[in-house]
Amino acid sequence: MARIYNFSAGPATLPVPVLEEAAKAVVEIAGSGMSILELSHRGKIYETLHNEARANCLKLMGLDPAEYTVIFMGGGASTQFAVVPMNFLPAGKTADYVDGGEWGKKAIETAQKLGTVNIAASSAAQKHAVLPRDFKWTAGAAYAHVTTNNTIEGTQMRFLPDAGSPLVVDASSDFLSCQMDWKKASLVYAGAQKNAGPAGVTIIVMKKSFMATAKKDIPAVFQYAVHDKADSLYNTPPAFPIYVFGLVLKWIEAQGGIGAVEARNKRKAALIYDVLDAHADFYDVAVAPKDDRSWMNITWRVRDTAKEEAFLAGAKALHLDGLKGHRNVGGFRASIYNAFPEEGCAVLAQYLKDFAKK
Ligand SMILES: *Cc1c(COP(=O)(O)O)cnc(C)c1O
Repeated sequence: MARIYNFSAGPATLPVPVLEEAAKAVVEIAGSGMSILELSHRGKIYETLHNEARANCLKLMGLDPAEYTVIFMGGGASTQFAVVPMNFLPAGKTADYVDGGEWGKKAIETAQKLGTVNIAASSAAQKHAVLPRDFKWTAGAAYAHVTTNNTIEGTQMRFLPDAGSPLVVDASSDFLSCQMDWKKASLVYAGAQKNAGPAGVTIIVMKKSFMATAKKDIPAVFQYAVHDKADSLYNTPPAFPIYVFGLVLKWIEAQGGIGAVEARNKRKAALIYDVLDAHADFYDVAVAPKDDRSWMNITWRVRDTAKEEAFLAGAKALHLDGLKGHRNVGGFRASIYNAFPEEGCAVLAQYLKDFAKK
């Protein structure tokens, strides 16, 4: 099979060795005479994979398993938009939220249905084309929620702010893509399908001392502590996506860890941004401040919008797929998560150069 360069925002490209190993496991896992899809989640083979993935996730994040735990849930990051306030936003308290883009806005709208929300910072007035600045945190807030990578708009916060209250991070689209001081976070969640695996599992990394403060008057299936007490096997987990997530973690380790992956991600993004900036009369990068630009999702326009269709058609002919921007913002978007190959970024960079000359 000839693989295309898949710039899709999610589900997204996975490492080929991971796909090959997963394909084998779909027929038979670990000499068991069964498929990974058929295996009981209460059996030894699955439990080993499951707990290995939880341990390796903390290891890559530089977190101590005595302090932090990993929970797997279904329902995507969107479900966490509700489960976070259900657990941690009691009546009489306020949660701070940063509005940096569409996904942050959805998290805010969901939390507002469940409790009191303060918008600590927003870049809505700049159409989310910059990172929000000037945080106005609430003293004694229940927690502060930030989105590190704004998938649709193409901004990325490669640091965690000091909010003064427990920090909750939606890292769905830049999870494990660059080094972060995760010890500053009390809860990190990420849908797997961008940087970490196939759709179907959400990875939740949580400080145990924060988990202990959660509300207990909500249904058990929504209580993080109930899942954690059962080693995240309270009910049937999405076993196959968790298995593939485990393979992706091993792949990251084999690349040299997060540091090596980060260095490559930075190079990949520079290949594309440099060409866009060099042809600023022809292309318009959506995010002007360089420090705010995402290394995961690069968004831009062709200044002459009449050329948009020709741009996409020419890209397709070179097997560059999935470059159409999100329907809310238009233009183009190249999603180049961890597993997206560097040579694909070089092919796009060359195409951007050639197309600008036409
Ligand atoms: C994709 C995305 C989501 C939503 O994820 P689902 O798994 O589709 O619910 C939330 N936040 C961010 C930052 C995303 O990129």
